[in-house]
Amino acid sequence: MQPPLRSLDSSPQLPSHADVVVIGGGIIGVFAAYYMARRGLSVAVVEKGRIGAEQSSRNWGWCRQQNRDARELPMATRSLELWEQFAADSGEDTGFSRCGLMYLSNDEEEIARWAKWRDFARTAGVTTHMLSGREATERGRATGRAWKGGVFSPSDGTADPGKAAPAVAAALMRLGGSVHQNCAARGIELEGGRVSGVVTEAGTIKTRTAVYAGGAWASSFCRQLGIRFPQATVRQTIVRVPPMAQQLPDALHTARVSVTRRSDGSYNLAISGRGRVDPTAQLLRFAPQFLPMFAKRWRNVFPGGLEGIRGGHESLARWGLDAPTPMERARILNPRPDAAAVKQTYERAVELLPALGHAGIANAWAGFVDSTPDGVPGIGEVWEVPGFILAAGFSGHGFGIGPGAGHLIADLVTGAEPIFDPAPYNPARFKQSAWGKVADF
Ligand SMILES: Cc1cc2nc3c(=O)[nH]c(=O)nc-3n(C[C@H](O)[C@H](O)[C@H](O)COP(=O)(O)OP(=O)(O)OC[C@H]3O[C@@H](n4cnc5c(N)ncnc54)[C@H](O)[C@@H]3O)c2cc1C
Repeated sequence: MQPPLRSLDSSPQLPSHADVVVIGGGIIGVFAAYYMARRGLSVAVVEKGRIGAEQSSRNWGWCRQQNRDARELPMATRSLELWEQFAADSGEDTGFSRCGLMYLSNDEEEIARWAKWRDFARTAGVTTHMLSGREATERGRATGRAWKGGVFSPSDGTADPGKAAPAVAAALMRLGGSVHQNCAARGIELEGGRVSGVVTEAGTIKTRTAVYAGGAWASSFCRQLGIRFPQATVRQTIVRVPPMAQQLPDALHTARVSVTRRSDGSYNLAISGRGRVDPTAQLLRFAPQFLPMFAKRWRNVFPGGLEGIRGGHESLARWGLDAPTPMERARILNPRPDAAAVKQTYERAVELLPALGHAGIANAWAGFVDSTPDGVPGIGEVWEVPGFILAAGFSGHGFGIGPGAGHLIADLVTGAEPIFDPAPYNPARFKQSAWGKVADF
């Protein structure tokens, strides 16, 4: 089953030349293109399927600073401002609102971890409120039970994954950028070692700058250029219930299940961090680098099946530029949801919020979270291929930080002062196999 997603018409013609070609029309690619078009660059986005149809429409919709790793917090904070600014500047509806995120718990260790993060966040100027048992029980009254404590982060929020990426692409087109769906980029042309064009299934676009924002496909695409980008994908499942009359919390997380209101009043239900890892040759190749990540998350990550191989996104194959590639065979990665996870997620959600018991399941879907070994994305020019900017490996956090990442990419391309320090995201760190600190989900 596919998640809800606004559809968008493509631009009529592929340009023969562009200042920048963005490969991949997820939230990262469209925000990068939008900020570059605002600076007067000619930009073309090529997307092998539909705008937003992979991870960017399959997520919960959380845009959060709460519990963010120090390396990503500046990007998260700036992104929240940019979500608001985008709506004001473009008039487009992404469904974003600063509804606040609520976390509830009866586990004292977990509550203590949140308090520690609150102390760190204060040093970065981010406000979050610890909730006493009485306050948590009052704020979480829809659950009908007592809680030992919690957190409320009032400046965080959610956007609607069914609306956001197409809204940004529509704004980009009004600025003169072009968007080409069902148009896979097969590879990059080089002249003197530098990017000179992007070869697509519909023709070549001459350019000196290519931004690759291809999500789960990044490692296999980079391999064609001799770039090592360690990536593992985790298949996660989401359940959606139809719009309901009862007012439930907009965004509520507990260790057992999380609930998020979509802008049409329906709710996304999910178990945080739970996923399946489908065995692929790429996974085996990078396994040693991912040991710290899987060691940290093993409680919620289970062995998968053939969905990873079926998707083709972790192919180790080399392909030519004159014949269809694995990306044209899988226009949209739409893996099967995990049936056991669907059942357990809904049962846990009803146990938490009994009102959901009347709703029934509307649909369920899955998405591949593309992760790096340290859980922090790779953003920046790859020194082996001048003119090639990588922006992938968003490790389950990329939707909320999409605007900040897109702005940073535009800064790097135009040589502007970066909106925040790009150093933690430098893709050069993936050349070594040293294990970095693994970010939390
Ligand atoms: C179940 C789930 C829950 C999540 N929850 C959250 C959340 O609450 N908050 C949050 O911040 N993040 C969340 N995430 C993560 C978030 O969705 C991703 O990090 C983010 O959407 C990544 O955006 P992207 O643009 O990098 O990738 P994608 O959205 O996957 O887009 C990449 C696009 O590139 C295209 N592409 C690839 N190669 C080519 C090519 N060669 N030519 C043309 N097109 C190509 C693909 O078709 C795809 O459309 C979640 C993810 C999942 C799966």
